[in-house]
Amino acid sequence: MHYVSTRADASAPSSDSSSAAQFSDILLGGLAPDGGLYLPAEYPQVTGAELDAWRKLSYADLAIEVLKKFATDIPEADLAALARRTYTPEVYRNARPDESAAAITPLRTLEEEGGKKLVLQALSNGPTLAFKDMAMQLLGNLFEYALAKQDAQLNIFGATSGDTGSAAEYAMRGKRGVRVFMLSPHKKMSAFQTAQMFSLQDPNIFNIAVEGVFDDCQDMVKAVSNDLEFKARHKIGTVNSINWARVVAQAVYYFRGYLAATTSNDQKVSFTVPSGNFGNICAGHIARMMGLPIDKLVVATNENDVLDEFFRTGVYRVRKSAETHHTSSPSMDISKASNFERFVYDLVGRDPARVRALFAKVETDGGFDLSGQPGSDGDEFAKAAQYGFKSGKSTHAERVQTIRDVADDYGIVIDTHTADGIKVAKEHLEEGVPMIVLETALAAKFNETILEALGEDAERPAGFEDIEALPQKFTVMPPDVDKVKAYIAANTGL
Ligand SMILES: *Cc1c(COP(=O)(O)O)cnc(C)c1O
Repeated sequence: MHYVSTRADASAPSSDSSSAAQFSDILLGGLAPDGGLYLPAEYPQVTGAELDAWRKLSYADLAIEVLKKFATDIPEADLAALARRTYTPEVYRNARPDESAAAITPLRTLEEEGGKKLVLQALSNGPTLAFKDMAMQLLGNLFEYALAKQDAQLNIFGATSGDTGSAAEYAMRGKRGVRVFMLSPHKKMSAFQTAQMFSLQDPNIFNIAVEGVFDDCQDMVKAVSNDLEFKARHKIGTVNSINWARVVAQAVYYFRGYLAATTSNDQKVSFTVPSGNFGNICAGHIARMMGLPIDKLVVATNENDVLDEFFRTGVYRVRKSAETHHTSSPSMDISKASNFERFVYDLVGRDPARVRALFAKVETDGGFDLSGQPGSDGDEFAKAAQYGFKSGKSTHAERVQTIRDVADDYGIVIDTHTADGIKVAKEHLEEGVPMIVLETALAAKFNETILEALGEDAERPAGFEDIEALPQKFTVMPPDVDKVKAYIAANTGL
């Protein structure tokens, strides 16, 4: 199995590292050298006999089966050990009292009426109470394994406004060869999120509270990334959502959801996915391309509806910072969807020259138009339906109402992102095809809106009761690139 870049230039010399990359080669990196994203040269296929056999497997064993199709350069015994260490009931222990922690991603039927079925798949029972733990926990173990093999080190440097940073820190804490330097806007995160990150005392975790806003943090990360000499000397890397291993790890729970919601392979299911950077639902697309019988993949957005607009009209129009709304489902507040290019590559028939042209147009004109209308950039949007994609959007008022309705009708409290998913899923229910909504966070993380919707606090999983009272470890810093570089240099000793 080898990997290609969505922007690979076929006329480039064959020594181009992006042309014959294996899983381990792209594991620790982000973008391909040509600025594209990695995808397998072809999607491995899953047979009906395999699906039958996989019905009986534990989550960890299912993960091994899926991973080994993509990571063909890692010995299966090593992959198995990593997956079995990752997908345990101890790691995914924050299941609701009536859920099975051993299921890792337990399913619950919310509603079954007139042949229509609405199901919730819990992906947020990991250490940081959000779905990013599903992939990031595996990544932590994979990174430690790969770095030990190469006798190498990696210093992860990023900026966070909440979910990604804490998932990365909880995945990398205590891992040999890895340090995490995470910028966050000083006093701008919720008390719960701040406590989650800053209470980590591990010597390889460095929380930096920047006296500024999230954009200042991102600018500092960009400035450091542009200093190639510094980046190389200090072995700086990232773990953002374009990382291919994260996408593969996420494909596993689509298989799991399908197998748990069906009894035979002639049945289909649909998924609705609360979406931001298109990373989560991209994994659903990969699973579908592998032959998993998925009918619809429904993209749910909040007020930041870049993706809903594309899947309704064929127009991809990235938003400016000033046009990006700060909403009560903040992990979906994006101005452009960084993983979307992977789907576009398939949509335009895996033509890298087309992808290069379209994303060059994003830089110059702020987007592209595949609607086939006069003056558009192409007519491929007509094919998007063949890939099962649908979409919808949810606003703050709708999310609050959905949280109320779900509490009243089904007796559980869901978070704001999942509420966007349920709202949109209900618009796409079809007879005979179970609709699985991916639960991307637990309500305790977004208590302010729960309080607004229900007039009472969200319940916290055991162990999180007094998290704000734990001692915190962090460094406050002005938004000054030289200061952060000096801090990294002092702590890596490189
Ligand atoms: C990251 C995140 C999302 C968005 O996922 P993408 O992969 O960026 O589409 C949705 N909900 C929650 C809670 C998240 O943390």
